[in-house]
Amino acid sequence: MSEESVFTKIIAREIPAKIVVENDRIIAFEDISPQAECHVLIVPKTSEYSTVEELAAADPVLLGEMIALARPIAVERGNGDYRLVFNTGEKAGQTVHHVHMHVLSGPSLTEESI
Ligand code: 5GP
Repeated sequence: MSEESVFTKIIAREIPAKIVVENDRIIAFEDISPQAECHVLIVPKTSEYSTVEELAAADPVLLGEMIALARPIAVERGNGDYRLVFNTGEKAGQTVHHVHMHVLSGPSLTEESI
C-alpha cells in the first residue's frame, strides 16, 4: 500500500496538473520536470500499489490499459515512438511511491536523456 502521495493530490484536484487523458481507472498528466519533448506520467487512480511489480501481480489488466495509452500520447505529443520507464525502488530513482509509468517521446531520446 502506498502512502498518500503528490499523485493522490493531483487525482483529487487538490494540486494542479496538466492532464492529458483520464478515465475511471487511470489519469495521465505532464511531468512537472520533463526529460523529453513529450514526458507524460500514466498513473492508476488507486493508491493501492507502490510499484509496477505489485500492480502486475494484482491487476495485470490495469497495467495493460496503462501501456495501451502510451501510443496515442506519443503520436499526439511526440514523434510516435516512445520509451516507457517504471522506476522501481529508491536506488533506481523512484521518488513517488504510487506506481506510475513514464512515457517519453521526441527527438532527444536518441541523446540518452534518461
Ligand atoms: P519517479 O522518480 O518516482 O519515477 O518519478 C516521479 C516523477 O514525478 C518525476 O519525474 C517528477 O518530475 C514528477 N513529479 C513530482 N512531483 C510532481 C508534481 O507535483 N506534478 C507533476 N506533474 N509531476 C511531478
